[in-house]
Amino acid sequence: SDRRTLNEGLVVASHGRHCVVESPDGVRRICHPRGKKSQAVVGDRVSWLSATPGQGEEGTIEKVLPRKNLFYRQDEIRTKSFAANLDQVLILVAAEPEFSASQLSRALIAAEAEHITPIIGLNKADLVDNFARAWGRLAPYRHMGYQVMPLSLKAEGTRDHALLLELLRGKNTLVLGPSGAGKSTLINLLVPGALAETREISQALNSGKHTTTSTSWYWVDAERHTGLIDSPGFQEFGLHHIDPAQLAAYMLDLKPHVAQCKFYNCTHLHEPGCGVMVAVSAEDRPDAISEQRYRIYGDLFAELSQSRY
Ligand code: GDP
Ligand code: ZN
Repeated sequence: SDRRTLNEGLVVASHGRHCVVESPDGVRRICHPRGKKSQAVVGDRVSWLSATPGQGEEGTIEKVLPRKNLFYRQDEIRTKSFAANLDQVLILVAAEPEFSASQLSRALIAAEAEHITPIIGLNKADLVDNFARAWGRLAPYRHMGYQVMPLSLKAEGTRDHALLLELLRGKNTLVLGPSGAGKSTLINLLVPGALAETREISQALNSGKHTTTSTSWYWVDAERHTGLIDSPGFQEFGLHHIDPAQLAAYMLDLKPHVAQCKFYNCTHLHEPGCGVMVAVSAEDRPDAISEQRYRIYGDLFAELSQSRY
């Protein structure tokens, strides 16, 4: 007789096609997807079957439960989902190395498209001159209404730690950032030892091969109410599922001007009577759009249109 029971769990890591699924009691086990429909990503709630005796402690994912949102990234070949069911995104940049406004914009657009709140962390506040410059470069983003949080993650003291815990409490937060911004420092501060453990598990699952790190879930608190999701690959944030016609609505400095466009299907690139174009570099207006952001819009519009047709 089949005595296996259907269980619920949370996907806390994925390594290729294997997932690590955590049960409500905190026990983690490797699970394999059954077919394409049960392909799960970190943050997914799944129902899984324990394996038959003789197959150890592993399980099979039977079903992915409905998601409230889904995040993508793309490599040279294709777009892939990598995280689900997030409450917020913390985008970590730093005083140095200088962040890319284009990459930052892509991450913000991805969050807006999934209707979740992004927060920008600006690390290395101790590098005073570079920090001032980076803070200035973030002015348009502050004007859009984004919270920009100055951080000094390497500094002694507990102020940033307490602020971060306050920001994260009770939520599931995806942490993103270009390499060198301090993402490892942040995760080690909040979840000491987590990264070393992940590396070990990843190496074990890939039979010792050196592998690129994949997306992982960490609990910040013992009660497991506050989740941190670490994912590499800030550069290749996946936006190809976004309809270019929706793009301006996800750029909060462009969005309010769209209502002024003469044509309902305005692309904001060349049409007469475009509300967005008149706001570009309109320095007398408090709601002006910067040249840089408008260029990012144009580049992304072209990129997304190309991938569709
Ligand atoms: P990651 O690539 O985003 O994971 O970045 P790391 O956490 O490895 O940090 C990159 C470098 O920045 C390391 O040398 C850190 O020690 C350094 N770093 C991290 N936080 C701070 C900070 O608040 N101030 C300064 N000056 N350096 C920092
Ligand atoms: Zn327009």
